[in-house]
Amino acid sequence: MVNKVTELFNIDKSYVANTYNRFPVEIASGKGSIMYSTDGKRYIDMGTGIAVNAFGVADDEWTAAVTAQLMKVQHTSNLYYTEPCAILAKMLCEKTGMKKVFFGNSGAEANECVIKVARKYAAEKKGAEYSTIVTLKNSFHGRTLTTLAATGQEHYHELFQPLTPGFVHAEANNIEEMKQVIAENKVAAVIIECVQGEGGVIALDADYVKELRKLTEENDILLAVDEVQTGNGRTGALYAYMNYGIMPDLVSTAKGIGGGLPLGACLMSEKVEGVLGFGDHGSTFGGNPVCCAGAVSIIGRIDDALLDGVRAKSEYIFSELKDADGVESVSGMGLMIGIKTVKPAGEVLKACMDKGVLCLTAKDKVRLLPALNIPDDLLAEAIAVIKEACKA
Ligand SMILES: *Cc1c(COP(=O)(O)O)cnc(C)c1O
Repeated sequence: MVNKVTELFNIDKSYVANTYNRFPVEIASGKGSIMYSTDGKRYIDMGTGIAVNAFGVADDEWTAAVTAQLMKVQHTSNLYYTEPCAILAKMLCEKTGMKKVFFGNSGAEANECVIKVARKYAAEKKGAEYSTIVTLKNSFHGRTLTTLAATGQEHYHELFQPLTPGFVHAEANNIEEMKQVIAENKVAAVIIECVQGEGGVIALDADYVKELRKLTEENDILLAVDEVQTGNGRTGALYAYMNYGIMPDLVSTAKGIGGGLPLGACLMSEKVEGVLGFGDHGSTFGGNPVCCAGAVSIIGRIDDALLDGVRAKSEYIFSELKDADGVESVSGMGLMIGIKTVKPAGEVLKACMDKGVLCLTAKDKVRLLPALNIPDDLLAEAIAVIKEACKA
């Protein structure tokens, strides 16, 4: 068995592009918040494939929805209507107050759509020179050349110049700097993550987000919230902006919405619902009926009871970890949690993995993104392992 696994690692290393520094674990199967490697080891999954498997692995309802659609028709192109796509769009609009949805396949594409809508809206309303998109320093918005330009972390940019022009980065939680950036540039939109994920699980200040909403409104600048990671119940609300009591003009989401299949969405408010017309945007796979059928099962179950559970599990994690030995601080919201540890995060991650708990990192933190419905006993088991691994 060990030899077979090693052989697979070598094939992967030889033939798959060298962009991921994988851990030496081959995941074979799982159920809910448990995953098994090929050598039979049991893991509690505190990462959900980076906030993707919202209800865990092989969730019964999701699997049934996906397979039922799969056996009807797997793809049609966007030249025809399909039920899952229409039902999902209606569901998202009814739950958010947004008016229209464009479906793509990933977070980066959802943000590309946000940027296209913002630029067209501003060009028609204020003139083509109003094309600047402001994002925050330390943000993450994706890996395409345009969403890399949007990403406010220089180290991602270095080797890929020239990036798409027209992006300016402002310091998070600094409304004075944002006012200055808006005064000095012809701005179409501001994009924020309410909780910066890849940047280290850092929630924006509530006052800043409220003032930013006011500032953008006063200047007829669109406010877009990147909910690719924070969305779909992750922070204890359906979308993280709801925790801040604001209404954005545009929302991008992906990761958890598909429950494990590739799906991204750009949600458009009343102000911008009519911006995109025939031929302005498209995606061959976007709104794929199998992905959408799975997403209907996910979004349909993110109700008040589930969100209460997310918040209760979150409180439990915070209370267990905040004064734990070897823990400097705990940040985040809902089931999107960053742990600043005395030991290097990578070391803690490795110790957890040895003891059968899969965690993630974000910058210098250990990051937890468990399933929204992780059973309390498994959560307690995982947190005990994490606490032990953090001990300085
Ligand atoms: C993961 C992520 C993206 C990129 O999503 P992909 O599906 O990998 O393209 C964009 N924004 C945020 C906030 C993310 O966390």
